[in-house]
Amino acid sequence: MPFRSDLGPKPRLGYTDSRIARAAELRPDAAAIAAMSKDPDAGAYVIGGDWIVMKKGSPLHDPLFTMAEAQALSAATETIFLGLLDGAPRFGHGLASQTAEALKSRDSLHITDLRSIAVQGLVAPEHLPPIAEAKAVLHWHARHRFCPNCGAATRAVQGGWKRDCAQCKAEHFPRTDPVVIMLASDGERCLLGRSPRFVPTMWSCLAGFIEPGESIEDAVHRETREEAGITCGRVLYFASQPWPFPASLMIGCHAEALTNEIVVDREELEDARWFSKGEVEAMLMRKHPEGLTTPPPVAIAHHIIRAWVEDEINFD
Ligand SMILES: [Zn+2]
Repeated sequence: MPFRSDLGPKPRLGYTDSRIARAAELRPDAAAIAAMSKDPDAGAYVIGGDWIVMKKGSPLHDPLFTMAEAQALSAATETIFLGLLDGAPRFGHGLASQTAEALKSRDSLHITDLRSIAVQGLVAPEHLPPIAEAKAVLHWHARHRFCPNCGAATRAVQGGWKRDCAQCKAEHFPRTDPVVIMLASDGERCLLGRSPRFVPTMWSCLAGFIEPGESIEDAVHRETREEAGITCGRVLYFASQPWPFPASLMIGCHAEALTNEIVVDREELEDARWFSKGEVEAMLMRKHPEGLTTPPPVAIAHHIIRAWVEDEINFD
């Protein structure tokens, strides 16, 4: 009998499917952006480092402030034009991390990190993509106040999507760091690992940054070999996910495992081992006898693992 799984409807992948049109053509028009910031329908997400500021609510908190409300909390370190939601301008309003932290004393606000918001479902799901976008760009601004070419101070332009150096004329653009996250499998079993940073019961896909000069396939092969000693063959692209911790793009793949013997890199992983489909299904359903779990649906690893359990992956 082939393995049959019934995991129910597929959950939403966090930080994806933004409803906001980025309207990049408006970014060079400083007057238009200034006018949009005065639009009564404009709204801003207020972010200070890892802290997301929200208006306290029940059951959900509201992360969208009017421009006046955002300004009243504190002047922005940088303002990012995120785009238009059904014509209504959306901005990211950056604060210093310590400024956001100081706001925690206000009863009307709830301030926590984005991972907690996503995993616990503290805001309506439609807010996650623009918060992720704003958080990643604001993090880039905080780290690029000086020109990496000549050391002079840089200045944000184009609605927060570029920084210019007045001294050497270099232009700097926000960066995204590609990461491969993959599930190696051999038909019957898949390879999961545990980072020492994980909660004690959780096992997940292996992952690592793509290095300069590497293809996605090269990085999948290298990371799987380095972290677990497993050689892989064919690599299938699955899906991707922005991962603003601080500025990654997770590139989800399945990889065909060609070898069996695991050699764990203890610098990177606490452990790695093979799992059967039945065991992984129990983990996805939170019914594993030892309480082992996969990452939550907000993370792409959950979807990569689930697709394998549901027999959607075919290397032929
Ligand atoms: Zn410069």
